[in-house]
Amino acid sequence: MVQKGTRDCSPYLQFQNCRIIAGNDLIREDLWCQDGKIVNPEKVFFDKKVVADEKIDCKGAIISAGFIEAQINGAQGIDFSLQTENVELGLKKVSKKLLEHGVTSFCPTIVSSTPDKYHQILPHMKKSEGSKEGSGILGVHLEGPFINEEKKGAHLNQCIRTFHNGLQDVLNVYGHLDDAAIITLAPELDNSSQVIKELSQRGITVSLGHSMANLVQGEIAVQHGASFITHLFNAMMPFHHRDPHLVGLLTSEKIPDNHTIYYGLISDGIHTHPAALRIAHRVHPKGLVIVTDAVPAMGLPPGLHTIGPQKVEIKHNRAVLAGTETLCGSIASMDKCVRHFFNSTNEVVLTLMCQWTIPHMGGGVFWDPSIWHAMDRTEPSQMTLLEQCEYAGYLGAVEDLGVGDVIGPFDIQ
Ligand SMILES: [Zn+2]
Repeated sequence: MVQKGTRDCSPYLQFQNCRIIAGNDLIREDLWCQDGKIVNPEKVFFDKKVVADEKIDCKGAIISAGFIEAQINGAQGIDFSLQTENVELGLKKVSKKLLEHGVTSFCPTIVSSTPDKYHQILPHMKKSEGSKEGSGILGVHLEGPFINEEKKGAHLNQCIRTFHNGLQDVLNVYGHLDDAAIITLAPELDNSSQVIKELSQRGITVSLGHSMANLVQGEIAVQHGASFITHLFNAMMPFHHRDPHLVGLLTSEKIPDNHTIYYGLISDGIHTHPAALRIAHRVHPKGLVIVTDAVPAMGLPPGLHTIGPQKVEIKHNRAVLAGTETLCGSIASMDKCVRHFFNSTNEVVLTLMCQWTIPHMGGGVFWDPSIWHAMDRTEPSQMTLLEQCEYAGYLGAVEDLGVGDVIGPFDIQ
């Protein structure tokens, strides 16, 4: 006999007429939830013969996990690198805005700054879970100051540092690493191998960027634990056939077994040519992570704004250092970047769906060990952020799900 879910347990919710991601496929299948978690439909429908307490018609939309944003400098006039007071309030404002763009978890990013700025800001940037009020915070992305000044981009020269005394210099500059998720550094700096090793051992994802490194230096960094490349192609040596530099890591044979190198791609239509997006994706789809690298002016009209201590000018949909043509991050939202990626690589829509979903499933389940146990997966606290992304399947917490149509007009609901 068919019974209502409420008779013997919590109510069941059934999303109908939707498409969901299963492995490498996008399938038409209903999604069942109970107590805020996705449940196995076979057990509910066929074994227990339950009828849903509430049914929602998704009108053919895709249900997926929310986006993870691994690199964002601010939005709505909030500058994560500048605001030293009311840091929590600023984060709240941005995290609320990000939900509208489908981002359910993010890494607020701080550009190269002086030690006193880090000491003021970092203790207030805590990891937090997402909710209906705003996206969760996976930890801070510290972009610099241990970078190469030859590839500084929008980072200020006088902030750039070296680590002659190894990790001690890193600790002195940042002061507080408890909530750091990603650190972008240049692997050609002296003592980098030791620093990368020690940061990785602390569970921090070491990302290579703003760098002049050749491929061998990149490979050594990866062998010491680095697992990410910051905004691939931007602020690094270009691909060269005799030394492909950091770009060559995507096809390197010197990457240790069971170690995936991930790379951020700014897919805003300005920072990376569509052909470059396709090249990166085709040679190493598994590592692709779309980032916006959005500046605090994101969501604001053209004019003068900031990124850390630098002035930024928004003109013709580009963010440049005021008075120059130097790009300094994007003003694109994540859904815009994803849409652009689809438009540039339309033959790989399904593959991308999975790549794009997996990183953010990692965020969706990052702070919910109960789901990991339910999924019979590795204990999340033992894994770095990016390892978690790799392990995540398509089950996750309901509050981290978004409903939208990625292939047609992108409409987040
Ligand atoms: Zn950068």
